[in-house]
Amino acid sequence: MHEDSLLEDALVRLDDAAAHLSIDPDVIEKLKFAREMTKVRLMIRMDDGSRKSFLAWRCRYDDTRGPTKGGIRFHPDSTADEVETLAFWMTFKCAVMNLPYGGGKGAVQVDPRKLSKAELERLSRAYIQAFARILGPDRDIPAPDVYTNSMIMGWMADEYAQIVGQHEPAVITGKPIALGGSLGRGDATARGGYYLVRHLAAELGLAQTMRVAVQGFGNAGQHIARLLAADGHKIVAVSDSEGAVYSAAGLHIDLLLAAKADGKSVTSTTGHGGHELLDPDALVGVECDLLVPAALENMIDEENAGSVKAKLVLELANGPVTPEADAILGSKDVTILPDILANAGGVTVSYFEWVQNRQGFYWTVEEIHDRLRAIMEREGRAIWNVAREKNITMRTAAYVHALGRLAEAIEAHGTQS
Ligand code: GLU
Repeated sequence: MHEDSLLEDALVRLDDAAAHLSIDPDVIEKLKFAREMTKVRLMIRMDDGSRKSFLAWRCRYDDTRGPTKGGIRFHPDSTADEVETLAFWMTFKCAVMNLPYGGGKGAVQVDPRKLSKAELERLSRAYIQAFARILGPDRDIPAPDVYTNSMIMGWMADEYAQIVGQHEPAVITGKPIALGGSLGRGDATARGGYYLVRHLAAELGLAQTMRVAVQGFGNAGQHIARLLAADGHKIVAVSDSEGAVYSAAGLHIDLLLAAKADGKSVTSTTGHGGHELLDPDALVGVECDLLVPAALENMIDEENAGSVKAKLVLELANGPVTPEADAILGSKDVTILPDILANAGGVTVSYFEWVQNRQGFYWTVEEIHDRLRAIMEREGRAIWNVAREKNITMRTAAYVHALGRLAEAIEAHGTQS
């Protein structure tokens, strides 16, 4: 059995879905364990001349539907359990969107905010040196995740190209545009969630002007706040790792974005434009219509789920709601648009990037947006219908939808694999 709790919790969702499908038990057995998990220690030279080592992992959870795909996280609290769980979620996310990928994930246990730019570059290159042999455009394709970005993907793509002795842009996505990155990848995670909410607005009975609280103000949080505010919705609260701000009249997005661009916390806007300081623990319980967890896993748990006032939760983070909190929110009639659907815009545009790299033919941003919207609407609608037909939550419906595709692929591979 698994001793670690995050993967245990994740597998609860798999069992919930399996109960609604007649699936060969072999399929479930295969999906309960990661296919391959590699752990290394990266040694890098620090600017002061000393050497420092960092734990790093890459997990290829399941490659039944194609090469494994998933981001690399740089975080001081990353663990093997977290990496495996995130790779499990990627497996289902790619199946939800019908992308020709399996699921993978990587991490380095590091606080990148404490490294200089040169140290960060050495660490990023060291990661690729350690894992190059398991990566490849047809094998395992990394991308950005928490505290990694296009600059880091650029260094990693460059390191990989040096190792294999040729350009291989399709080995990694989320690259800078100048190195073969795709237009529209920057805001893709938020934009996918935004298209989904817009598409289901009537079914969800959403107000013309919603009050929105956003937990986490990194890539996903900043872009969703910007996109929703541009449509006239009121962003009443946002938080980042240092604190939170609130305004019943609506926060000024330009002030928040300018603070982040300056390397400051959202709390530095307090006192400007009517922004008030808010206890970050109070954010999930703020009076609002839509709550967007866009930070880390397990942020809504049995302790604070009861305080949620929103009737809709858009999971832009991976795994932000624990199974216990799911049950509490369900009993309060809160609809959750689950992570493996709601934040899948990121990996979908990563797929577009990979396709463009392999074709050597690049699309306009309008083409990217149109294709992303079409896929979000198609899969979102299909999951909505499964939820209605079977009278189950959107989360269970998303797992059912993905599990059907995974089962079909596992069975098609035959019994000897
Ligand atoms: N890290 C993102 C996620 O969790 C994107 C993964 C990718 O683009 O491969 O979905």
